[in-house]
Amino acid sequence: MTSNLSTTHSPSRRGFLSRAAMMAAAPAAAAIVGPGLAAGRAEAAEGDLPSYAPVPAASFGPALNADGYFVGRIQDNLYWVTDGFYQSMFLAGARGVVVVDAPPTIGHNLVRAINQVTAEAGTSSTVTHLVYSHSHADHIGASSIFGDDVVRVGHVETRRLLREAGDPNRPPPTLTFSDRRVLAVGADRLELEYHGPNHSPDNIFIYAPRQRTLMVVDVVFPGWVPFKNLAVSQDIPGWVRAHDVALDYGWTTLVGGHLGRLGVRADVELQRQYVHDLDDSVRQTLASLDPTPFFQQYGPSGNAWAIFKGYLDAAAVQAAAPVVDKYLGQLGGADVFTVDNAAVLFESLRIDAGRLGPFGIRP
Ligand SMILES: [Zn+2]
Repeated sequence: MTSNLSTTHSPSRRGFLSRAAMMAAAPAAAAIVGPGLAAGRAEAAEGDLPSYAPVPAASFGPALNADGYFVGRIQDNLYWVTDGFYQSMFLAGARGVVVVDAPPTIGHNLVRAINQVTAEAGTSSTVTHLVYSHSHADHIGASSIFGDDVVRVGHVETRRLLREAGDPNRPPPTLTFSDRRVLAVGADRLELEYHGPNHSPDNIFIYAPRQRTLMVVDVVFPGWVPFKNLAVSQDIPGWVRAHDVALDYGWTTLVGGHLGRLGVRADVELQRQYVHDLDDSVRQTLASLDPTPFFQQYGPSGNAWAIFKGYLDAAAVQAAAPVVDKYLGQLGGADVFTVDNAAVLFESLRIDAGRLGPFGIRP
């Protein structure tokens, strides 16, 4: 699913800016980094900012329209929407629309996309249900724009977390479930299932069997390495297992919730391999990295945190190096987030798996 954007992926600032202009991504970028940085300070800071390898052309999705979004049919009456950073999905039934997630960066463009599709199909544009993949504001923080009449659907833990958050932009779901719930939409259905904590304690799998489409958010990032710190996941072993859970479903299209394109099974398999490779490298680093210099440097002053930081930072850099080499050119951002991802996997190996290295049981 590449596009004509692939010819403009120069790593130069001019290339980036021209591509950003073509994506019409400026409003979303401004929302993410703040208007000051997007409008004025980006140029001043340019000289201090690191440069990265070009993103592979196959990591990009279709071009955005003038409003800054793309809406496409997955199959039949199931559609997806992206702004290049985030994704949403909706099922357009004869008598109403069921939406999954409402990312704030897409915001009112989600309503425009729904109106566009339903006007062309001659079906109702009324959004009857809004499904939450999980409680995080970056994926459902535009829930409020759908008003009070929409039925919000989510996991019981999502409801608990959102009651606790008290965010007016994220009203808690009123239709909840613990393990499984099927939403019937005309002849179609969405199967909502909970398989335990992974990225968040409440992250669910949303499966459209007739369209052979699975939506699971913040687990797999088609065409890219996972976001910083393995997608800022709260249960790393659960997040790693979620790759296998996803592959157990009989789907051909994946909606990952992030970036500009859909996924296929090979994307999940490739990211699972990336995580396995990183795990292997982290284990080798634990066995081979000598902690002595950090104890010698910081021990005499009693700075325990400096010992940990020096050792853990060095471990992340060492573990990431061969994995960056392997995946550069295959996955976008391999040189951006792999050190952060290695750090989290190293920490998980220590505190989840009990492989404590120099901080294990004292002889
Ligand atoms: Zn999240």
